[in-house]
Amino acid sequence: MTIKAKCRNCDKEVPADQFKLHYKYKMMVCPDCFRGKTQLQKEKAKAEQEKPSKPAGWDMDDEYLQKVKRERDKEQPQFQKVPGSEHLQCTCCNCKYSFKYDPFRKRPRSCPFCNEDIPKLNTYSLL
Ligand SMILES: [Zn+2]
Ligand SMILES: [Zn+2]
Repeated sequence: MTIKAKCRNCDKEVPADQFKLHYKYKMMVCPDCFRGKTQLQKEKAKAEQEKPSKPAGWDMDDEYLQKVKRERDKEQPQFQKVPGSEHLQCTCCNCKYSFKYDPFRKRPRSCPFCNEDIPKLNTYSLL
């Protein structure tokens, strides 16, 4: 019959003759602890616990809203031709402010109201 002893590091009972002196713990530990397996399992368990969980009340509606918001973030300013003028009517995608835009001089460079950058417009598509 093998004599079992409790590992002082992980409280597991293993045959006494399998204990080895660990250089870091400076004590006799079981084979698992000696190979660092216990440490690995501890870290894994800790990582599991710290996994961010979705906020309470999170449901499909929120998923949908987030998606819509992402879509909206990509929104481009709206340009509309002004009849009889080479200017365009530009509606800022950020503040919805509407202002005259000169596509040939590329002015203004940003929204006069909220300073949002106006992306370069392909003037060829307007001719
Ligand atoms: Zn152990
Ligand atoms: Zn704006």
